[in-house]
Order: sequence, then structure tokens, then C-alpha cells
Amino acid sequence: MRIDLHTHSAVSDGTQSPTVLVRHAAEVGLDVMALTDHDTAESWAEAQAAADDVALTLVPGIEVSCRYAGEGVHLLAYFPDPTHAGFDRELDKILDGRNSRLPATLERLRGEGIDIDIRDVRRVAQDAAAMGRPHVADALVALGVVKDRDEAFARYLAPGKPAYVDRYAADLVAMIRLITDAGGVSVIAHPWARHAHTALDVAGLESLRAEGLAGVEVDHQDHDVATREELRGIARDLNLVATGSSDYHGTGKVDHELGCNTTDPEQYGRLLELARAAAVASGRSTPEVPVG
Ligand code: AMP
Ligand code: ZN
Ligand code: FE
Ligand code: FE
Repeated sequence: MRIDLHTHSAVSDGTQSPTVLVRHAAEVGLDVMALTDHDTAESWAEAQAAADDVALTLVPGIEVSCRYAGEGVHLLAYFPDPTHAGFDRELDKILDGRNSRLPATLERLRGEGIDIDIRDVRRVAQDAAAMGRPHVADALVALGVVKDRDEAFARYLAPGKPAYVDRYAADLVAMIRLITDAGGVSVIAHPWARHAHTALDVAGLESLRAEGLAGVEVDHQDHDVATREELRGIARDLNLVATGSSDYHGTGKVDHELGCNTTDPEQYGRLLELARAAAVASGRSTPEVPVG
């Protein structure tokens, strides 16, 4: 059984519609795929209809932009009720924050001598629920300023670069509680990616588990072999579920092909068990948890 628990469609910053993404997943031989667009559940219905057609098990998820001890942390929420008022309000705040920083980002790019405006971003953003830095990057590619998203981030859009503008992110502990309250389970995405997340050490992860954290994404392209083994050991010691996933973004991210990392079926089974318990405890109408 091949299980990939973290992917993006064009509803956030991937490049394929939910339908095309689901069909692609079935074609490459995935049995289970979680769709985890950034800060929105808007892609779920279309993806579920496509999954029913190709006999793929779809896990409905959202990758939520959070902050913890001053650092950006991405939190994967699986099976939450997206109509939970508090949860929905936070997601709206994050999406609004992403859209509303766009004028400032473009102003700074113009300050760098680049002739770009909002229409250039809209043109490449397709059906995205909010336009983020990856869409600005795509616009810069379309304008011939850079060759790909990576170069756009490296030169202009990453923190510390001239066009970087901060935005709203949810408090991580509050978000873990909201997801639990909404009947879902939470897993930290690529906890040790890019810069060392000093706050997400053993003590930090232990305290987050006490708040309801279910797992950590261990096998991810941003973790080297040594990082994966260390994190897997911590997950085992703390009884956290260890997941693996591609973080596929279509052509938007290289070296993140569907199924390049997968989740062990036993770990997936534990996640489903926790999701079932969370759904019952919440008393909410949550997405159906598959049998296994
Ligand atoms: P935003 O949500 O607008 O702040 O953009 C953040 C998103 O940009 C992340 O979730 C990634 O999907 C993407 N991203 C960050 N760094 C890079 C990079 N170097 N190359 C391509 N995409 C990136
Ligand atoms: Zn993304
Ligand atoms: Fe992420
Ligand atoms: Fe992601």
C-alpha cells in the first residue's frame, strides 16, 4: 500500500486542478493520497469526486501556516470539520493576510526595478484561493526576470530578501487545539526543514503532544537521512505518529514527485485511529475516516 500524506493542487500553490492531481496519483500507483492545500478546504469536494472515480482513498487535509516561538511552522490538519467557526475564522485570517501583503510585495519588486503589477500575478494564479509568494514567483518567471520559483525565492521572496513581507500566521498551540476541537488530527509538516527549528526540539515536541499533536512528518525532501533518523527516534520515544510524504506541487517544486516519500501503513493506521477518536470526541460532523 502506497500512502502519500501531503500534496497541493492549484487551489493553493500546486499547478494541477484537484481532479488532475487525483488522477495523476492513481496513475503513479498511490493507494492513499492526502490533499493538503495551504489554509483552505476548498479543493476537497472536487478531489473526492475524482477519487471516487479512480478508486483512490482521499484523505482530506489542510496545511495551516502557524507560528511557534517566533518561527514559521506548517501544521497538517487531517479530517477536521472545516465549518468549525473558530477554525474557519483562523483560516480566513491567514488567507486574508496572504492576499493583503501582495501590494507591498509588488511595490518592493518595483523598487528593485521590476515592472510588475497585480494583473501579472492574477494571470498565473489560476483558481488559487489566495495568491501567495509562489504565484508572485510564477509571475516573475513569466516576465522573464528569473528562470524558476527557486530563483525567485532566493533573489527576492525569501525572508531577508528585498521583496519579503511578513504576514499573519496562526498560533501553533491554539491551532492544534482548534483542529482537535474541529474533530481532526494534527501533524507538523517538515519540522526541521530549511532552517533548524530550534523550538521544535524534544522538549518542544513533547509539550505540543500534550496539547494534542498527533504526529510529525519525518520522511520529507527537506530532511536529510540523518535528520530523518533522529526525528524518527524522537517520534518513537514520544509516541508520535511518523509520516512520510512528497509535498507535491506539480511543476511548482522540483524533486517533490508524488510518492517520492510515503507513509508506513502501520503509522497511517495509527493516524486513522486517532482521527476516529477525535471525530467522536468532538461530536462534530467530520469527513468520514477510511477503514484502513
Ligand atoms: P506564502 O504562503 O505566500 O508565504 O508562500 C510560502 C510557500 O511558498 C510555501 O508553503 C512553499 O510552498 C513555497 N516556497 C517556499 N520557499 C520556496 C522555494 N524556495 N521554492 C519554491 N517554493 C517555495
Ligand atoms: Zn506550497
Ligand atoms: Fe510546507
Ligand atoms: Fe506543503
